[in-house]
Amino acid sequence: MEVLIVGASVAGPVLAYWLDRFGFTPTVVERTPRPRLGLGGHAVDLFAPATEVMDRMDLVPRLRAASTESTVLRYERPGRPSFDLDLRELSEAFADGSHLEIMRGELAEILHDATRDRIDYRFGASISGLTEHDDGVDVTFDSGETRRFDLVIGADGLHSTVRRLVFGPEQQLRHRLGGCLAVGTLPNYLDLPALTVIYNSVDRLAAMYPVWQTGQARAVFLFRPGGDISFDHRDIDEQRRLLRAAYAGEGWEVPRLLDEMDRADDFYLDTIDQIRLDSWSRGRVTLVGDAGYAPGPAVGGGTTLAVVGAYVLARALAEAGGAHETAFAAYEEQLGDYVRRCREVAPGVLRRGIPRSRARLRFNEYAMRLLPRLPAGIVHRLMADGASNTLSSFTLPD
Ligand SMILES: Cc1cc2nc3c(=O)[nH]c(=O)nc-3n(C[C@H](O)[C@H](O)[C@H](O)COP(=O)(O)OP(=O)(O)OC[C@H]3O[C@@H](n4cnc5c(N)ncnc54)[C@H](O)[C@@H]3O)c2cc1C
Repeated sequence: MEVLIVGASVAGPVLAYWLDRFGFTPTVVERTPRPRLGLGGHAVDLFAPATEVMDRMDLVPRLRAASTESTVLRYERPGRPSFDLDLRELSEAFADGSHLEIMRGELAEILHDATRDRIDYRFGASISGLTEHDDGVDVTFDSGETRRFDLVIGADGLHSTVRRLVFGPEQQLRHRLGGCLAVGTLPNYLDLPALTVIYNSVDRLAAMYPVWQTGQARAVFLFRPGGDISFDHRDIDEQRRLLRAAYAGEGWEVPRLLDEMDRADDFYLDTIDQIRLDSWSRGRVTLVGDAGYAPGPAVGGGTTLAVVGAYVLARALAEAGGAHETAFAAYEEQLGDYVRRCREVAPGVLRRGIPRSRARLRFNEYAMRLLPRLPAGIVHRLMADGASNTLSSFTLPD
């Protein structure tokens, strides 16, 4: 059975791997001209169920060796002493120790390496049209070529083309959570060792973490814009101005970080939005990962969802013997509740990350300082309905 997968970042290669293992013939098209080579993008998280999928692909040792090693959070408080939170002490209580943080580019490269010998990857290619028939889908590629596939799966992220072609314009399906996120590369001029340094003020967070493999660092900005925000997604200078306006007058290293963002050629800024669809499938087409159910970048475990969703979809297709209607219904049935819970986690993560008042800011600091002093059992209970536990709370089928 011929399956076209659009997108080769996280969900795409995981899906291709498992479809191939289960006897399907996947082809993957990716619009970037080459595989997403290591160390690009931002740090992403794999929580327990995603780590379990990676374990079933025998990739955990390689992922661990490539992980960010960012194990300490340092809270900078101008005028007061900074304090550190050692995540190693907490990881057992938070997420049973299986959590893994890695640069998205590095993850994509490892996944591509694990599948490149068996899967037909086409880089520098995209699609412009889909026409469904009773026995297949005619796909028109950007090159003008048309080819028929039995199934088409959109693993093409937040701004999915497959979703737009089948479900309509993105604007109707995006739900704003009220935050903005910006990231970019800069020199590690603070000589940060394996730690993430965080500066928090009301409605704003700025952070910096090192990428040990390159000697560079990434800056992250998470903020709540006053009022409804709109900007041109292609106008990077407008986005830089917007960031400057949001952080005007901030202390610590923020002015330098803003200057560095003016120079960063990978600068990214967007609103934090969720993709919400009643169903991810229509006919012979379905969606996986951010394309179908992005929970919001950096706040809802999107990478874990992408990995788990790809695995569950491949299994559902295998169990249904390729009968797509049965398989897509089983996929949504098995994953739907987990997607909803991850979605619900996101606003809380955003609220804690960018406190709305000075009192809340102080409370957060106090809670962070107290956490390591509590016994692991109590931390676990306190966190029982917290984000990490929710993101870890999916049991993979055997
Ligand atoms: C700044 C930022 C910070 C984040 N931080 C975190 C975090 O801390 N933790 C976490 O878990 N997640 C985080 N995320 C989210 C995470 O990156 C995504 O949830 C995850 O990458 C989803 O994987 P995916 O494969 O579904 O989609 P993506 O990784 O978005 O990949 C989509 C792929 O499809 C390709 N593509 C797009 N359109 C087409 C097309 N028309 N034709 C062919 N190919 C196409 C793209 O080039 C890309 O390779 C963050 C995201 C951002 C932007």
